[in-house]
Amino acid sequence: MLALAGLPLGLEFVFFTDRDDDCGSALGDTIIAPYTDEPALLDVASRCDAITFEFENVPAGSVRFLAERVPVRPGPSLLEVAQDRIDEKRMLVDAGVATPAFAAVDSIESLHAAVDKVGLPAVIKTRRFGYDGKGQRVLRSADEIDSAWEELGSYPLIAEALVPFVRELSVIAVRSAAGETRVYPLAENHHSGGILRTSIVPAPNLDAEVRAEAHAIAERIMERHDYVGVLTVELFEFVDDRAAGPRLMANEIAPRVHNSGHWSLDGAVTSQFENHVRAVAGLPLGDCSARCACVMENVIGEPPDVRAVLAEPNAKLHMYGKSPREGRKLGHITRLGLELPAP
Ligand code: AMP
Repeated sequence: MLALAGLPLGLEFVFFTDRDDDCGSALGDTIIAPYTDEPALLDVASRCDAITFEFENVPAGSVRFLAERVPVRPGPSLLEVAQDRIDEKRMLVDAGVATPAFAAVDSIESLHAAVDKVGLPAVIKTRRFGYDGKGQRVLRSADEIDSAWEELGSYPLIAEALVPFVRELSVIAVRSAAGETRVYPLAENHHSGGILRTSIVPAPNLDAEVRAEAHAIAERIMERHDYVGVLTVELFEFVDDRAAGPRLMANEIAPRVHNSGHWSLDGAVTSQFENHVRAVAGLPLGDCSARCACVMENVIGEPPDVRAVLAEPNAKLHMYGKSPREGRKLGHITRLGLELPAP
């Protein structure tokens, strides 16, 4: 999708992947090698004016190796932080962003201490390589601590307070190489089984103060890290009992384009993919405005009824060419200009 957005701008793409069935190969030369293969990395560096990555589990060391030779945007520092949930939470705290109470866990004793600290209910997550709710377990009583440790204790863990949020939001922002920042309308996100199902944009009934707080969170993180490209912050909106104060907590960041921004392909003046490519290539940013209200629905596990979707006047279908598997995101449908649901 990044390449599809960049080709009309006159850019050319070289893909580096460790798989031989990657979808980018139709759009440019593809180098297939392990991500740590030094000759392959040197080959990539010699063929590119700028480099980016499209998922966050690429080895940070390889990204650093490339960044010593060619501009890599965003740089390796926030990528490395985003790969570890504890480092990520500490980065957020340092940036003055509220987060759920959290504690690192590396033994059964520290799990007990962590649950004492964050309280119950709590959620236990693997520090690294978790996504779509994988490697997570909710603890509702102290009796469950031992079995949670048996299930997940072979990995470094984080314990977090389970936040009684009102809803989940995400803010997607983009920063150019020249330091200009733009922000997309916030998305309201609905998950089930830990997987994003739908995003509604603009998030309905959004308080202006909450919107401003979300913008400030994204901008603060990007400024502090001299970030270039698209950054996503997943947020919990909660009701604050105090008269004033933050009403958002950050759950996690993604140093990349994000599933909750896929609506922008059809619904924004400039999609998140195009704006990321513009930023990486050192070009001016495009307008992030929504052209209409959008509801993005992920196609998960099973292929959709393509004819039925295409028969809808306002639906746009994007399939990713992946083979069906339970829980796998196979594509998405964006419905444009639909009336927003009642609050
Ligand atoms: P994550 O992999 O951290 O994005 O978590 C997946 C989903 O689990 C989130 O989108 C939330 O719905 C839920 N979740 C994760 N952490 C918490 C938390 N500390 N409090 C409440 N819900 C959470």
